[in-house]
Amino acid sequence: MDPASCRCAACGAECSVAVRDLLDLSAHCPHCHTSLRDVGLSMRRTIDETATFWKAVQIIVHVEGRLGITIADETVEAICNWNDLTLQHLVTAVERSHPSGAPASARDAVAAAVRAEFPNAPATPGYSVPLLDAIGPRRGSGGD
Ligand SMILES: [Zn+2]
Repeated sequence: MDPASCRCAACGAECSVAVRDLLDLSAHCPHCHTSLRDVGLSMRRTIDETATFWKAVQIIVHVEGRLGITIADETVEAICNWNDLTLQHLVTAVERSHPSGAPASARDAVAAAVRAEFPNAPATPGYSVPLLDAIGPRRGSGGD
């Protein structure tokens, strides 16, 4: 993978450092040798946010097909921002998108979607924890 460019917060220099070193928080500014840990942490956050978004989309698309409904982005966004989504938020989004209001099947549909899309997810995923933790396995968060 190509090195990534980032700016050192300590000396302001533009640095080119290996992505691997940034992500395992071992990168240092080549000019002043300050740790680039914060840059690595924010990169990890971005990766997690992107992963959460796409996993949520996978579940939503599956539920839409199963129940024959459309779940608008705005419906999800009104409940929670994409970064902090949990399975419970998705259940709520299904309920709000269903013509009958709150179908008893909303939770079942989400559970079935998780089973189908993420076969390695726990048999009883947590509904109130961040999506990545619920359907794991989450990438090791290392030194946090
Ligand atoms: Zn520096």
